[in-house]
Amino acid sequence: MKQKPKLAVYWAASCGGCEIAVVNLHEKLLDVDAAMDFMFCPCLMDTKKKDIESLPDRAIAITLFNGALRTEENIEMAHLMRKKSQLLVAFGSCAKGGCIPALANFTKNNELLHSIYIDNHSVDNPAGIIPSGTTAFPEGDMQLTPLLERVKHLAQEVEVDYYIPGCPPEPHQIWNVIETFLAGELPSKGSTIGCGTLTVCDDCDRTKEEKRITAFRRNYEFYPEPEVCLLEQGLLCMGIATRNGCGAPCTKANMPCTGCYGAPEGVGDQGAKMVAALGSVMDIGDTAGLSEEVISERVNAFLTTIPDYSGLFYKYTLASSILGGRVGR
Ligand code: SF4
Ligand code: SF4
Ligand code: SF4
Repeated sequence: MKQKPKLAVYWAASCGGCEIAVVNLHEKLLDVDAAMDFMFCPCLMDTKKKDIESLPDRAIAITLFNGALRTEENIEMAHLMRKKSQLLVAFGSCAKGGCIPALANFTKNNELLHSIYIDNHSVDNPAGIIPSGTTAFPEGDMQLTPLLERVKHLAQEVEVDYYIPGCPPEPHQIWNVIETFLAGELPSKGSTIGCGTLTVCDDCDRTKEEKRITAFRRNYEFYPEPEVCLLEQGLLCMGIATRNGCGAPCTKANMPCTGCYGAPEGVGDQGAKMVAALGSVMDIGDTAGLSEEVISERVNAFLTTIPDYSGLFYKYTLASSILGGRVGR
């Protein structure tokens, strides 16, 4: 009997949401199973690492690799899956741009661990223990893999064939990609697939009137008009600096786009694109005759209405951004 091509879904520093997106293929999973041998997915099945190590090189047709690279174990698995796969796909925003795990690059590991295990009101840790190294249990020793100094995205460690954006990728787009692969219609290597080439604004039905805004508001402060552009209502909607393809589910639900599909085609840095876009909607009043100092004060007053702009603008792409993380590390 002819063997089906092997499909693997691996998670590194991941929340599990990308696996849920695969499960959300629903009945299409039966089509995937009919066409492919879904043989490795630590979240769903019990295939062991040694089973993968024993495969010949390139034995797996496609690996959808999700999660950022946060630990030495993540690095080891990235190399193993690269070696054993014909196509390695950075699946989801963590693997593509670092996403939430990479926000750790704004701080240092010791500061981060301290805030999690010591300086944390919801943790009872009188001995001030920060988990690390090897701990003996009756069942055997347990070893925690060391953290990397900086969180990386997949392509910063191994060669990546394709990128699928999204936090997580939308199931209809995952299916589009699988159908394309199964049909043997491989896009050019290095492409970002399962998405569009424009922006979320291009898919959003809300009306834009090129209004300027004097301050930003938070989602909980008011109920936005359901048909008017959220950015023009003072909500920080990233649609203007975000690749389309998701179908704009967030703005349809009256919530701003947070930018999970990353930068649009041809844009290198999503956060920088958003900063430039904000310049066109920011209203600081008539500046004629004002000194640079007063203009600067007005701009700063406007910016204080944006909470945590580095965390907002680089939530999904910090590891792949020009900024990269905290300056001077
Ligand atoms: S891309 Fe989003 S859904 Fe997928 S693992 Fe990362 S945080 Fe979770
Ligand atoms: S900024 Fe947001 S709400 Fe406005 S058109 Fe773009 S995606 Fe829609
Ligand atoms: S609207 Fe924005 S945040 Fe929502 S799924 Fe699409 S890209 Fe992601």
